[in-house]
Amino acid sequence: MPILPASDEAVLRAAEMLRSGGVVAFPTETVYGLGANAFNAAAVARVFEIKRRPSFDPLIVHVADDAMLDRVAQPVSDAARPLMKRFWPGPLTLVLRRRSQVPLLVTAGLETVAVRMPSHPVALALLRRCGFPLAAPSANAFGGLSPTRAEHVNTALDERVDLVLDGGATPLGIESTILALEPELALLRPGALPVEAIEAVVGAVRRDVRDEERPRSPGTLPQHYAPRTPLRVVLEPVPKRARRRAGYLGLTAAPDGYAAVRLLSRSGDLEEAAVCFFGALHELDALGLERIDVQALPERGLGLAMMDRLRRAEGHDAVGSK
Ligand code: AMP
Ligand code: MG
Repeated sequence: MPILPASDEAVLRAAEMLRSGGVVAFPTETVYGLGANAFNAAAVARVFEIKRRPSFDPLIVHVADDAMLDRVAQPVSDAARPLMKRFWPGPLTLVLRRRSQVPLLVTAGLETVAVRMPSHPVALALLRRCGFPLAAPSANAFGGLSPTRAEHVNTALDERVDLVLDGGATPLGIESTILALEPELALLRPGALPVEAIEAVVGAVRRDVRDEERPRSPGTLPQHYAPRTPLRVVLEPVPKRARRRAGYLGLTAAPDGYAAVRLLSRSGDLEEAAVCFFGALHELDALGLERIDVQALPERGLGLAMMDRLRRAEGHDAVGSK
């Protein structure tokens, strides 16, 4: 499967492949997506197949503009409009009412559809070239670490994708924030847009949605986003001898004695940390370590999204559950 730098020519080629039912990985500002024509159920089925994703896990539909949005979702509610105005294009996914043209495979049988307008220039150029929306989950094997570089896509999907557009490292590094609008504003998945920023526009958002209350969707399953190496969030330093064959992922500093260390942000900046978060986990995962110890991060701003992913990687329940 070719990886091509995302030139105009490569984007054109990708759009042609997608038009004829192909599956193409492309960069967005959050993570790499694995895209298919959202109106082509057979192409979407290939995405599920390549990812080995269960068909009860709905996909996010990516649109380039309002006209494309109109073909996917019913007219939006009053609550959605100010959010779209302020945060689109960007890392906010909204759960809207589905139009019947969207195959039920995309929405896993739900009458709602999750939609987002990405801001990454390659994603937007590709959507415009296609002229149809792209259903695109993260371009990793089901349950694994999300890809923030083109090389991550390659290894994760066993080269089964038709084409990977390489746009370098993704600028935000963590998945979009998913917000339900009905029956109330509710945070379904913390992500690259801090919930605090959403609340500054529309007021209080319910944050304590329990996993049982969410649509059945592995993106919010207790066990997900996991490296192959066992991972745990450490609240206290582990004994020195237990560090020798383990790796450590920390924010600003690490205890000594670990076999490998990755630090996310020297200045403790959580946005900067999110950008290299999955990349650092991919690197540590590739070293054949016995275990990855991760420092607990503050649960505000992007720290909320990272801790959500870490707890799921650990196999515990995350934000808003329990
Ligand atoms: P990803 O694998 O990052 O593309 O995330 C897809 C996730 O979006 C799913 O696992 C769900 O959590 C969420 N999602 C997609 N469609 C819907 C929907 N109609 N209602 C609620 N959540 C959705
Ligand atoms: Mg995913």
